[in-house]
Amino acid sequence: MASKYGAVVQESLDALLQDDSFMPNFSGEERELAFDSLEAILSTPNQIQKSFLRVPMENGKILRIPAFRVQHNNALGPYKGGVRFHESVDEDEVVNLATLMTLKNALHEVPFGGGKGGVVINPREYSEKELHTISKKYVHYFSDILGPDKDIPAPDVGTGEREMDWMMGEFKSIHPGQPYRGSFTGKSHLNGGSLGRREATGKGVYYTFRYMMHDFINDNKDWFEKNENLFAKTAMEHYKRDLTFGIQGFGNVGSVAALEAYNCNYIKTKVVAVSDRNVTLYHSDGLDINALVKYTSENDGDLPTSDEALSQNGIEADIRDREDVLYLDTDVLILAALEDQIHEDNMEKVKARLIIEGANGPITMKADDYLSQNGVLIVPDILANAGGVIVSYLEWLQGRETQFYSEEEVNTMLLKKMKETMDQVFPQFFNDPFPLRQNCYMHSVMKLSNTLYRHGKLY
Ligand code: NAD
Repeated sequence: MASKYGAVVQESLDALLQDDSFMPNFSGEERELAFDSLEAILSTPNQIQKSFLRVPMENGKILRIPAFRVQHNNALGPYKGGVRFHESVDEDEVVNLATLMTLKNALHEVPFGGGKGGVVINPREYSEKELHTISKKYVHYFSDILGPDKDIPAPDVGTGEREMDWMMGEFKSIHPGQPYRGSFTGKSHLNGGSLGRREATGKGVYYTFRYMMHDFINDNKDWFEKNENLFAKTAMEHYKRDLTFGIQGFGNVGSVAALEAYNCNYIKTKVVAVSDRNVTLYHSDGLDINALVKYTSENDGDLPTSDEALSQNGIEADIRDREDVLYLDTDVLILAALEDQIHEDNMEKVKARLIIEGANGPITMKADDYLSQNGVLIVPDILANAGGVIVSYLEWLQGRETQFYSEEEVNTMLLKKMKETMDQVFPQFFNDPFPLRQNCYMHSVMKLSNTLYRHGKLY
């Protein structure tokens, strides 16, 4: 399988092939053929579109900017996935992320398929007016394949409410008289966005940790105490202890996860390190996360990078190298920046025994194998960072009904949905020798396969 997630999907298919209770109607050669079909469907996107957006700059120059929209699979509903503005975007990355969206929505039973988009720019190098034009052009070039019942983009790295508002405005102009509120999610609340959407991914990331390490173990304590499973032992080593956190990335996802850890009443937690594209900040007594959130909101999203800036804002911290956050001796590491941050060359330096993937694909498969074999409990992206798409679904629903939910209602629905998924996967995970990622993929491949079978797509 070509995509980054191909190996885990293949392992899941191999395991399901041996499980006679799964798709019992198929046996022998017919079964092998059905599984070949599944492999082919899951390993290839339905559609890859690439365009070069023609964008006039304020200085009079005309640029042609590469942009992508990948639609991986829509068996479960309209394609759904963010649009990333980043200079490292390429076709492989967008395909990988679209594949992950298909699997993530299947795992959490969100009635969407998987899609993803990207524009190859560093948004910091463009004026607001130019970003407005780029956002509008993105919708213009891909307008035939987007729409509330076709493909629904959302924010990702480098995009936010502002871009989604612009994009929906453009969609409405291009398709007069057609439904438009559900064409984009992650919009501002004043423009039909859901309360709680911006915080949803970070909240969900922290909740997966909290639910596993507090509620789930509390409810199954006797069983955990006798359990010899490698990952159950790692969880128990950290149960009812004060836990230190390092958090890579202090944007939308990382800063909210940091606030959740900082304010947590269930577990004694201390956020000792956070990082962003410039620095790591460290303080052994714990960082003042409220002050850092205030600082980033006033400084274009960046953490303080000098002692002067720290002292002017009353923040106690040492300034360290950007990558240091990955190697500090913390109990928990939340990865909330970009892909491939822990890889073959640095995996041996990682000390945290609990890692939560807020970002998509922050650990390479080689590093994942190495850490898992050493009993490091990794809560994978597919499980941990689904809060965004779950609340995007609620936003899409609210846009259809033109009835809006309170923030409390949104948060309750978000946590309920994530709890339901965890209750499905945790009992088997803590019994099996497989890492949680594989366990989650098994569930999601099984759900997708059942739908594809019922749609008659396996013959
Ligand atoms: P963001 O742009 O708001 O924040 C990204 C953060 O990472 C910033 O603090 C930035 O300074 C930092 N960063 C950038 N390059 C870095 C580097 N090389 N080293 C360390 N830090 C670096 O993005 P976000 O929305 O918080 O998304 C973060 C990750 O979470 C991405 O992988 C994204 O795909 C994933 N994700 C986001 C959502 C969502 O709802 N926003 C949902 C699911 C997954």
